Amino acid sequence: MRAIRIHTPGDTDVLTVDAVADPSPEAGELLVANEFAGVNFIDTYQRSGRYPLPLPATIGMEGAGTVNALGEGVTGFSVGDRVAWAWAQGSYADQVIVSADKAALIPDTIPTDIAAAAMLQGMTSHYLITSVYEAKKGDIALVHAAAGGVGLVITQMLTRRGVTVIGTVSTEKKAQAAIEAGATHIIRYDSEDVVERVTEITDGAKCHVVYDGVGQATFDGSLESLRPRGTLALFGAASGPVPPFDLQRLSPLGSLFITRPTLSHFIQTFDEHQWRSGDVFDDIASGALTITIGGRYALEDAALAHKDLESRATSGKLLLDM
Ligand code: NDP
Repeated sequence: MRAIRIHTPGDTDVLTVDAVADPSPEAGELLVANEFAGVNFIDTYQRSGRYPLPLPATIGMEGAGTVNALGEGVTGFSVGDRVAWAWAQGSYADQVIVSADKAALIPDTIPTDIAAAAMLQGMTSHYLITSVYEAKKGDIALVHAAAGGVGLVITQMLTRRGVTVIGTVSTEKKAQAAIEAGATHIIRYDSEDVVERVTEITDGAKCHVVYDGVGQATFDGSLESLRPRGTLALFGAASGPVPPFDLQRLSPLGSLFITRPTLSHFIQTFDEHQWRSGDVFDDIASGALTITIGGRYALEDAALAHKDLESRATSGKLLLDM
């Protein structure tokens, strides 16, 4: 089968299309004929070596396809089922081994590509608004990169809960996308001062929570956009990692809370995975959540997909189509 691998970490040109042996499932695992792989920022961190992997490594965490074979002891899935997942290393490949407790059956009403596109960013948005900071009606949230993959999903989920979303974006087209997702206020953080604008928009009260997946470039402004006892959920580093930080700073800024969560710790059990993926699928099926596919690439063009994602050119979800 084909697999997109790295033999050494680096820029997008280290991604190679390799012919590798078909995998076979062990106990508790599914072998899936992959149809779509999701392209996520974590894939670029793994490719570049920021998150090191044993080499050679097949890139990719997310996808959707049809179950081809079951490992020993697997229950609840059958050969031929359509499934989707967000946490299976090696997903940029024709066939993928997925742990059964990290797989979700795709409801009949949801197309396979939408399921692939929804899993990682959908469950991330879900845990951020339920388990990291429980967003409530009346809250004000600042969402950075509001037209990105996570951004468009979390903005819709927050808005539906009655949260006022202030979204940051870098272009007018992205501003339109964030507004369509429900953002009430837009800050062009490429040209406007975020703290000044947040202060103006909230009449000085500032935000209950900031969801920041941009990292280095936005971090200080995120802290200063919070009201006393506000929460900063720093969940990514699209602009680079945040440098070491003096915790003492949280006190004068208003006894702030700060956390650096990651999806794997919020889908630790089958039940938790089912809860989050089930809610995401229910929202899609009911029309409450729209998944925007911002780009489709052939498997062989994974390098181009990474280039586009890292260049800030994209909005919504990027998929590799097998
Ligand atoms: P996005 O589609 O949001 O792409 C990243 C966006 O960040 C860009 O489109 C851009 O939007 C903005 N950005 C700002 N500065 C930069 C920069 N210097 N380089 C690149 N992008 C920049 O990606 P994802 O939805 O896949 O992921 C968003 C973030 O969430 C990532 O940091 C990712 O690692 C993180 N993440 C974390 C998870 C977790 O559990 N912790 C799970 C999933 C994602 P604009 O042009 O508007 O500025």
